[in-house]
Amino acid sequence: MNCAVCGKGLTFNELGLNVKYHPGEERLCADCLAVRLNVPRARLDEKIEEFRRAGCKLFAGE
Ligand SMILES: [Zn+2]
Repeated sequence: MNCAVCGKGLTFNELGLNVKYHPGEERLCADCLAVRLNVPRARLDEKIEEFRRAGCKLFAGE
């Protein structure tokens, strides 16, 4: 699957972010999602880490 804005291939964790924060047909990469949500990209990386530590199956560890 690719980002609806820039066409970049999406990672598993980026898809998880879409499920959590951007439900719907469009799937966005973390960079475009940050712009859309008007939050810093680093904040999304923090959220991935938080969900992952909480055991959320939508996010994978390194
Ligand atoms: Zn993108």
